[in-house]
Amino acid sequence: MDTSHDALLRRIEDRRDEVVALTQELIRIPTVNPPGDAYEACARHLGERLARAGMQVEYIRARGAPGDSDAFPRTSVVARVEGSTPGECVHFNGHIDVVEPGPGWTVDPFAALVREGRVYGRGACDMKGGIASAVIAVESILQSGIPFAGALEISGTVDEESGGYAGVGHLASLGYFSKPRVHHVVIPEPLGVDRICLGHRGVWWGEVETRGRIAHGSMPFLGDSAILHMGAFLHELQATLMPRLAQRRTAEPVEPPGARVSTLNVNSVHGGQVEQTYSMDAQGRPTGDLPAPVVAHSCRAVLDRRFIAEENLEAVRQEVIDLLEELRRTRPGFDYAVRDIMNFLPTATPRDAPVVLATARAIARVLGREPSFIASPGTYDQKHIVRTGQLRDCIAYGPGILDLAHQPDEYVGIQELVDSAQVMALAALQLTRGGQAPA
Ligand SMILES: [Zn+2]
Repeated sequence: MDTSHDALLRRIEDRRDEVVALTQELIRIPTVNPPGDAYEACARHLGERLARAGMQVEYIRARGAPGDSDAFPRTSVVARVEGSTPGECVHFNGHIDVVEPGPGWTVDPFAALVREGRVYGRGACDMKGGIASAVIAVESILQSGIPFAGALEISGTVDEESGGYAGVGHLASLGYFSKPRVHHVVIPEPLGVDRICLGHRGVWWGEVETRGRIAHGSMPFLGDSAILHMGAFLHELQATLMPRLAQRRTAEPVEPPGARVSTLNVNSVHGGQVEQTYSMDAQGRPTGDLPAPVVAHSCRAVLDRRFIAEENLEAVRQEVIDLLEELRRTRPGFDYAVRDIMNFLPTATPRDAPVVLATARAIARVLGREPSFIASPGTYDQKHIVRTGQLRDCIAYGPGILDLAHQPDEYVGIQELVDSAQVMALAALQLTRGGQAPA
């Protein structure tokens, strides 16, 4: 029996009220993104706590990044503590931003109500609960006096919900997610306490514009409608491309299983004039902005194409262009442009990577069952760590049910907070020893 590690697990169990209290404190700082409210307050709250635990704390503002301003500073926090001997660094990264509450709540989304073993609120599972679990895990290691090698880090970063460029993306560009500073990263996103998320599908966001010719709306035959051209393109997407995508299956364990194929969403379509607020008053007279009669000369659609590990970005883009070219050949007057908005390649950490093995072993020890391995349909901050940080030893693992993220009445289970803190603590101790199991 390993008494020191049993004592560590008990210590975390005894801090149940503390992990709940920290989750509540973080939920009550309404870091809604967009626009990026209260980031500074949330980063400072975390940083001051971690400084009290004996960690070196830095605040890094992504000055000039998209969204950054003095009113909405993009401030992230990074805390680090060195072990007693040289070794590898384990980093826990959580995003502090949350999405807007939206309608349908039966509780106050920022009150952090505790009821029936759960903490409710926007960000409870995605992912302030996960941050709280990571903090308790690291604090408990430090308080236990168990010697560890290497270093432990915790970061609270901004803007994950809007791409993470000013948060993990910015830090990665400064070397915060690269060797020799950091070796292993755990992102406590709400994947469930017995699931290890190895990576995600790829994404290509592109804007397709169809072009026409402006004319008077009463004589449309003198113009050429970009909106009707877009209609033809969307019809082809649905009739030919989408059925092909649905046939392409990945071997990666993407959850939910419906996302184990290639997918395409049309995020938005806009053609012609800006939408009008035209209406009639009680006397039948028009009020508000009145539309002018013109044939649309431009129509734009944003495509959100999620691709699987077995595909490549060039081919993903090319098959949309092939479809547009086919329309150019067959449809009189058809003209188009394609603009890239964003792309990230699929990523999958190997199952025998150190962070995967250590977390799997810790799950077996704490929960008494083997973990399952999954991949995410959408990207998260791992993409910056892999692409910019060039660090492959990264997983998402944390408390909560993914389906509740971004929903009304979001919650995280208190037992899950405790369980995942125990798993993170054991995994971190093993990793700082270069992957050796605890003595
Ligand atoms: Zn998240």
